[in-house]
Amino acid sequence: MSQALGGRHDKPGRMDESEQLKQVEPGQVRIAEPGCHQRGIEQQQWCIGGGDNRLTLADRLGCPVAVTQPAAGMAGMDRGQGQSSAGHIHRDRTELERRARAGQAVDRGASPVQRQSMTNPARNALIARLPKAELHLHIEGSLEPELLFALAQRNGVSIPFDSVEAVRAAYSFSNLQDFLDIYYQGMSVLLTEQDFYDLTWAYLERAADDNVRHVEIFFDPQGHTERGVAFDTVVDGIERALKQGEAELGISYRLIMCFLRHLSEDEAFATLEQALPHLHRIHGVGLDSSEVGHPPAKFQRVFAKARELGLHVTAHAGEEGPPEYVHEALDLLEVERIDHGNRALEDAALVQRIAEEGLTLTVCPLSNLRLCVIGDIAESPVRRMLDLSLKATVNSDDPAYFGGYINDNFRAIADALDLSEAEIVKLVENSFTGSFLPMADQIQHLAEIAEVAGGR
Ligand SMILES: [Zn+2]
Repeated sequence: MSQALGGRHDKPGRMDESEQLKQVEPGQVRIAEPGCHQRGIEQQQWCIGGGDNRLTLADRLGCPVAVTQPAAGMAGMDRGQGQSSAGHIHRDRTELERRARAGQAVDRGASPVQRQSMTNPARNALIARLPKAELHLHIEGSLEPELLFALAQRNGVSIPFDSVEAVRAAYSFSNLQDFLDIYYQGMSVLLTEQDFYDLTWAYLERAADDNVRHVEIFFDPQGHTERGVAFDTVVDGIERALKQGEAELGISYRLIMCFLRHLSEDEAFATLEQALPHLHRIHGVGLDSSEVGHPPAKFQRVFAKARELGLHVTAHAGEEGPPEYVHEALDLLEVERIDHGNRALEDAALVQRIAEEGLTLTVCPLSNLRLCVIGDIAESPVRRMLDLSLKATVNSDDPAYFGGYINDNFRAIADALDLSEAEIVKLVENSFTGSFLPMADQIQHLAEIAEVAGGR
């Protein structure tokens, strides 16, 4: 886990570390973009649940209402939370997230990112040329409307749209139910091995365009097995595309199976049991879904078992949850890297530990913006992480919903944070040295990065 620490990137006029750390005290309320507040207000009329499903993120952001569970019968998947009376897994992100995701579609033409961008063509050209690894990508979050529509037609799944344009237009929904409908319909089209292949292949082709050379893909088996799709079907399809991508696109891969943290540890154990015949092609386990209220400690035993089986371990922590969750992920789950990790910055001792241990943080800037984790892309923690010698990486999370793939994320923060070319190079270096690739492969990628960077 120890990696050489990156250099400091102090710049004149910037706050020093102690000042920065004071800016985000635990529980501090950030002022989110106006749209976040609007969304929060709008949510009140749709608030239909509470209890365990109530999200604290919106509270933390100052949004008027945190949300709720999906309407009964809206069976979803992916990192969904709660179970319907029919036993299906609901989409687990909160209404805030759903609204945020929808906001991505609504804002597609004039996002805060675009409003703030001061595009630097030379810098963007460097971003395009640099080889990079993507370490935080949920394959189910890469389902674009075009593919959704095509799969619906192929599988005879009824969706209330007669064209791709209609699907895309539906993302500009006027209420929560509209979005839930399209999301449910969207995920429901993933049924066969070919569907999972097509989903994965579409992502890989897109990633190749961004010069991605290595991917470590998350998938959520519980989101599919709960609605009757066999574990083998999911893995077979994803793996077939990954193998083809390696052969034809030159993209190496690792496959990481995530546990849905709103479900029980017993259910995670059952999923791990299902995965046993596939351990030759599953390289690690992760932890996703609704974070708050589901601390890493809940999965200590199943992660211990996963490590015992020789699997890599990572976990979402510190996206919505407090720094304590990051401590737990490190101490109890013994993760090799942290997915997101934004709120680790609230804890100076934790920052020091992450820096000293060279732990990788898989940051997702556009996701953070869409989910109101930050109110403006200029608040992306990537700048502070680099300044604090933390090993940050840039990733797209759920690109079909959050407004961009990996290079979109790079360009957004490069412009908003005015990243230097050296900082951009550092971020792509981190993506390889933070990967689960063998050292020899990492060195090879670093050499190529040096070559590209040297020629800039
Ligand atoms: Zn994620």
